[in-house]
Amino acid sequence: MKRFEKKVVIVTGAASGIGRAAATRFADEGATVVLVDREEDALQAVLGELTGNGHEAVAVDVRDEPAVTALVDRIAETHGGIDVVCNNAGIAGGDYAPVTENDLQNWRDIVDVNLFGTMHFTRAAGRHMREAGAGAIVNTASVAGVRSGAGGNAYSASKAAVINLTQTSACDLGQYNVRVNAVCPGLIKTGMTKPVFDYAEANDKAHKLGTRCELRRFGRPEEIAAAITFLASDDASYITGQFLPVDGGNTAS
Ligand code: NAD
Repeated sequence: MKRFEKKVVIVTGAASGIGRAAATRFADEGATVVLVDREEDALQAVLGELTGNGHEAVAVDVRDEPAVTALVDRIAETHGGIDVVCNNAGIAGGDYAPVTENDLQNWRDIVDVNLFGTMHFTRAAGRHMREAGAGAIVNTASVAGVRSGAGGNAYSASKAAVINLTQTSACDLGQYNVRVNAVCPGLIKTGMTKPVFDYAEANDKAHKLGTRCELRRFGRPEEIAAAITFLASDDASYITGQFLPVDGGNTAS
């Protein structure tokens, strides 16, 4: 029996990187997957790669609360519920300015996508899960939300807020048998970190990438997808309100 057979799973940020790997893993394990991203063409390409039937791709911006709520309500009605939401869409922004020099619009953009996007889906899907008396939400936070120095301060603050939202949502929804957890990836090779990898390769520093963790290498999207699917599955049935670093030991020292 596959872990997600007969389960309906929404994955945001599914057109690329970690979201794409998570969607692929959920589909491989039997889920019906709803892929969400703002990049429609890339989303369709991922849809075409998935194993199994019944998946769909929906171009939605996670900042657009009415669109998110309408989508979640439609999915719940069509499928008779939502079993899992994987809140993974995110942006890094690339602003490494000190706090005294921050570009405030950049700050707002990052918080809007990373925090409000996560909140919009948690809020809308949480209502259906509460009614059903079951559900699992897995948020993609970051090691940047756990320790300073792993991202710009807007990104780090937004991910720390995602961790806290994970905990408070778990407290609100636990009595309804709805679990909420987060993964905290370290450095993973994806579209988001392409500039970092490009820069390192162009400057003969590629060998140094990932060396800030105990395993001395960067991670793969599939390694984060493995943790996401674990937390979403019944294998994690007694785990809620937790954030799991998947970072090669970056936060261990
Ligand atoms: P990615 O850029 O490859 O994928 C992110 C996806 O989110 C993209 O497809 C993008 O189109 C989508 N997205 C961005 N803003 C959106 C919006 N407003 N509405 C809908 N979709 C939107 O990056 P990734 O590395 O796979 O990132 C996935 C998650 O992992 C993010 O939340 C990121 O912060 C987190 N993360 C990544 C790393 C890393 O090293 N790559 C480390 C820690 C955390």
